[in-house]
Amino acid sequence: MADKHGSTNKAVLDRFLDLEQPDNLVQAEYIWIDGTGEGIRTKCRTLDSEPKSPEDCPIWNYDGSSTYQAEGSNSDMYVKPVALFRDPFRRGKNKLVLCDVYKYNMMPAETNRRHSCLAVMEKAKDAHPWFGIEQEYTLLDTDGHPFGWPKNGFPGPQGPYYCGVGCDKVYGRDIVEAHYRACLYAGIDIAGCNAEVMPAQWEFQVGPTEGIAMGDHLWVARYLLHRVAEEFGVVVTFDPKPMSGDWNGAGAHTNYSTKEMREEGGLQAIEDAIDKLSKKHVRHIKAYDPKEGKDNERRLTGHHETSSIHDFSAGVANRGASIRIPRQVAEDKKGYLEDRRPSSNCDPYSVTEVIVRTTVLDE
Ligand code: ADP
Ligand code: MN
Ligand code: MN
Ligand code: MN
Repeated sequence: MADKHGSTNKAVLDRFLDLEQPDNLVQAEYIWIDGTGEGIRTKCRTLDSEPKSPEDCPIWNYDGSSTYQAEGSNSDMYVKPVALFRDPFRRGKNKLVLCDVYKYNMMPAETNRRHSCLAVMEKAKDAHPWFGIEQEYTLLDTDGHPFGWPKNGFPGPQGPYYCGVGCDKVYGRDIVEAHYRACLYAGIDIAGCNAEVMPAQWEFQVGPTEGIAMGDHLWVARYLLHRVAEEFGVVVTFDPKPMSGDWNGAGAHTNYSTKEMREEGGLQAIEDAIDKLSKKHVRHIKAYDPKEGKDNERRLTGHHETSSIHDFSAGVANRGASIRIPRQVAEDKKGYLEDRRPSSNCDPYSVTEVIVRTTVLDE
């Protein structure tokens, strides 16, 4: 069944994945972020015992000149294991090994945003910062056109698709379902999923997750999504505005709370945090997409349930504001706030780091 160029019948693979695996040997898929700050790269190696923590996995290296990272003459980059997950593709004791990246001199790579995020999270740990990120994304056919859209035109206007049911409303649910189970199996804090406003656009949520683990879980959830979609012959894009015109963009709304915000009367702490955020709008916009605001410029237009990239605003239940206080939070007078500005292709390490710097560390 090789109906598309480069596609194979995935069911055949099961015969080989069913082969008995030697007891002591484990396949470890090392995962890291490349020089674009968006792209995910992975490679596999055999370990001779099951790792119980990232420290049980050796530091490894790769050719940075092939990942937009290093000069060819000094091309080795190091990958340092930082988090372990179960591998839903190979199952058993096999592992996904999330890594951060270091240059030849052991300095963090430019796109290693985890390194500084971790330092900030350690400094702020007594505040117990929790995050819940709503990851929106769009499915594309291999020709770059949104998956399931008519090839020579557009689907009907937005309206019936958000949380929709039926094959005239949603495209690609198999992928969404497979991804959800893969995340649960792997050990990702996945919280839910829904179909989005633009057809072929979907969302999953990760959280609430504390500190550095937010970025770790979201990056591995993204890896799983790309990898699951690959099985179906479909492409995932995290571009914040894949279709121009009257189509919603894709964001990564970041829900955030500290211990103080979650306690009785925490609304005051939420308002204080919003006040601090209001004074650092430009800094946050720069941290909220990999091109320091250029990607989000196409999305944060003030239309399609977004705020303008140029202005800071906040409000209860206001989906056209930079920051929304959910209605339930206003009623309970405690809980969390939602920062609606981060782009779908943001680096969650950068986003969570800057939020904590501004609201907890006053840096
Ligand atoms: P929306 O109504 O904006 O679509 P969602 O239900 O998609 O919201 O996402 C809400 C997110 O908020 C979830 O990921 C959830 O885990 C997260 N969340 C809930 N409570 C908290 C909290 N106290 N702190 C941080 N995140 C939270
Ligand atoms: Mn949502
Ligand atoms: Mn959404
Ligand atoms: Mn939201």
